[in-house]
Amino acid sequence: MVDPTSDLGEDIDEADAPTCANCGDPIVQSPTHRVVTWVEDGRVQHRHFCSDDCRDAFAE
Ligand SMILES: [Zn+2]
Repeated sequence: MVDPTSDLGEDIDEADAPTCANCGDPIVQSPTHRVVTWVEDGRVQHRHFCSDDCRDAFAE
């Protein structure tokens, strides 16, 4: 059930949550959430990780 009054990003549905680029887990209100950004072809790219460990383990 969707509650239209909770639209402040505090109740993120798993379907809307970013997923870890390394392990694929949905990242919901994770205090260890890491976002890596870079510019490619003039556009800003994002990659989400659930933790520093996953960020370090990810091999491009
Ligand atoms: Zn992960």
